[in-house]
Amino acid sequence: MSTLTARGLTLRYLIALGLVAFLSIASHFVVKDMLRVSKGSAEIINVSGRQRMLSQRIVGLALELDRGDESARASLKAAIKEFRMAHVKLLDFAKVAIDSPAAEARLRDTYFGAAGTDHAMQLYLAAADRIADSSRKTGQPQYDADLALLQASARGPLLEALEQVVTIHQSVSEERTERLVLIQRLLVAVVVITLQIEALFIFRPMVRDISGYVRQLMDLADRDYLTGLANRRAFSDKARIEILRARRHRHPLSIILVDADYFKQINDMHGHLVGDAVLVALAHSLEAGARQEDVVGRIGGEEFAVLLPETSLPQAREVAERLRRSMAGCPIQAHGKSVEVTVSIGMASVPLDAADPLTAALGTADAMLYKAKESGRNCVWPKLTRVDTESASQSGNRS
Ligand code: GH3
Ligand code: MG
Ligand code: MG
Repeated sequence: MSTLTARGLTLRYLIALGLVAFLSIASHFVVKDMLRVSKGSAEIINVSGRQRMLSQRIVGLALELDRGDESARASLKAAIKEFRMAHVKLLDFAKVAIDSPAAEARLRDTYFGAAGTDHAMQLYLAAADRIADSSRKTGQPQYDADLALLQASARGPLLEALEQVVTIHQSVSEERTERLVLIQRLLVAVVVITLQIEALFIFRPMVRDISGYVRQLMDLADRDYLTGLANRRAFSDKARIEILRARRHRHPLSIILVDADYFKQINDMHGHLVGDAVLVALAHSLEAGARQEDVVGRIGGEEFAVLLPETSLPQAREVAERLRRSMAGCPIQAHGKSVEVTVSIGMASVPLDAADPLTAALGTADAMLYKAKESGRNCVWPKLTRVDTESASQSGNRS
């Protein structure tokens, strides 16, 4: 896999992750806003509830004071102070933008309009202040009017105004929460759809590409780069599988080692490029001469091996002779040159009961190859005895 492809894959992966991360963060902020909205609305409801309780308390304390209980004065002043602070707090809430123009107008009107809550509260507080500060008693017009206003307000209008404020805030907060829940649901849907799109168009092709690269790599690791034949490792792996099969069915299995004769001279005379081309041609001839089930590999520089399943040594010899003859009789054309090349072949029957049958067979075949070289090259070893020849003809030709 090239660096460029790896970079492309990493980039796709990062974009996919980045998108999901972005949507998750957006979702987090929406939830955070939802919590803020519901917290704000809970606080308003709490403050308004306290205002209602205080308005009742102020009236109660004013009446106690009116009855001559001086000890109520301090409590009355404390209640008025608390009421005033809570009122300022409610006003602050009303001033905060609530991104609903209609509700905002309603809220401002409720608070600051001609008959608004703020106005009612101011009147109420002024009357309560005067009573708390006053030493005058019933019968004085202002005092009587103040006491009457406190009682009347606490019975109805003030509570109603506060109720209205709470209702507006609640409806705004519900509206906003609904909107946020919708946005949040949309975001979750987008995350799910994005993940599916990513799975389809990013991860699936990515996995396909990667498996493709892995297959290519595995294939490359098994092949000899020059001839395309199985390399020594892949040949051994395949041979071991064939050995297990032959052992199970008690079928014969043979191996032949093919080595180009005087190959160094070919290189020296014609150059390495021609040498390479000759090796490729030899590999093709071996593959063409072998059956589908035979395993052909390049196991050394100019050395090849062919594993012949279901083949006894006499039968293997026929194959080896055929291969040798096909090469000897056919000069190889490479880079404008005609190169005559012969091969020597050593054979062995695979000893299926040996501890390591493949190594044993390769060792024997190598020794036979050495004999073939020693006896003048361009030949197959071992030479067969008459008994071998007879058994070969009895067992018939290989399929
Ligand atoms: P012999 O008949 O005894 O086998 O002699 P030889 O010259 O074939 O044997 P030797 O082992 O002395 O030389 C083998 C040569 O094969 C030496 C090496 O440079 C050459 N060779 C090995 N691999 C390659 C290859 O991939 N390409 C080329 N062009 N030559 C190779
Ligand atoms: Mg050689
Ligand atoms: Mg050699």
